Amino acid sequence: MQEESEGISELSINHPSAWDIDRFRANWFVFVEALLKEETNLLIPSRRIRWQIEQTPAFQEVAAGWDKIKGSQRLDAWKRLLLAAEEASRTILPACVQCGECCRMGSPTLHLEDLVLLRSGKIPWDQLITLRKGEPAHSPFDGKPFVLPQERIKVREKDGLRECVFLISQIERCSIHVDRPVQCRAQACWDPIPARDTAEEPFLLREHIFEGADLLLEIIAEHETRCGFAALSDAFEELSRSNGGNVQEVLRLLSYEEHFRQFVSDKFKIPAQNMELLFGRSFARMSTLFGFRVVEEPDGTRRLLVDEPGVQA
Ligand code: SF4
Repeated sequence: MQEESEGISELSINHPSAWDIDRFRANWFVFVEALLKEETNLLIPSRRIRWQIEQTPAFQEVAAGWDKIKGSQRLDAWKRLLLAAEEASRTILPACVQCGECCRMGSPTLHLEDLVLLRSGKIPWDQLITLRKGEPAHSPFDGKPFVLPQERIKVREKDGLRECVFLISQIERCSIHVDRPVQCRAQACWDPIPARDTAEEPFLLREHIFEGADLLLEIIAEHETRCGFAALSDAFEELSRSNGGNVQEVLRLLSYEEHFRQFVSDKFKIPAQNMELLFGRSFARMSTLFGFRVVEEPDGTRRLLVDEPGVQA
């Protein structure tokens, strides 16, 4: 008899008519999380799906007014809400709702067509970075890693994140929306084809940006010859093969590359924040790609540490 009454009271707690607002929210959370994990929804940004669900009249009415719905009507309201959510999640509208999710998953790579945005100052040069030939990258389509067959000019990402610098996080808006690059215009979470087509268009290169500045282009070419990404990669491979035997050579290479960029910055009065467009990321910064970091001692000497606190190579 006692078991039976416990069963009945458990049943009544699990019935929407007995839910207070906290239990309603907890059940709603579980339901939406499950909906987002459904296979048909995996390629669509979850923020986008949530946004669509929250626009439905059922959500506006039921979620906002749960406390005011009479107990006897809550089951119907709950069913209405679930049906509307399922429907909304399966009918992705062919329009960008600026949910910001694409902009959190990576910044755009620029195409030749975007050069006009640089020349007009709509995209400032100091917000750009060059990824050099041979650097590891991830496909914007399936996230798979690959090696860059050619350099790419990218908008910067926020420190430690993959989020584009132009995304205003608090309001989920692009600060250059009207003048956003070609790749962002083609990005459509409901249809991957326009973005794939755009990837066939010519990419922007440093030779386009610095066209006519022959001396600068010669210096960039010289930097590539002496400090190409392959040189760094080979040095770290040898470091691993020789069990740290060539550490001094690696440090010499890092130091040479740093002096190269410092010399050019001083000589041509190029602001430090533009140097990553000119030469890509410094070798010292890229050491983390190989599991190391460079630390400078108070006397100016440098050491290479395995990228775990306190471990030296
Ligand atoms: S430029 Fe704008 S639209 Fe493009 S990724 Fe950055 S924030 Fe998003």
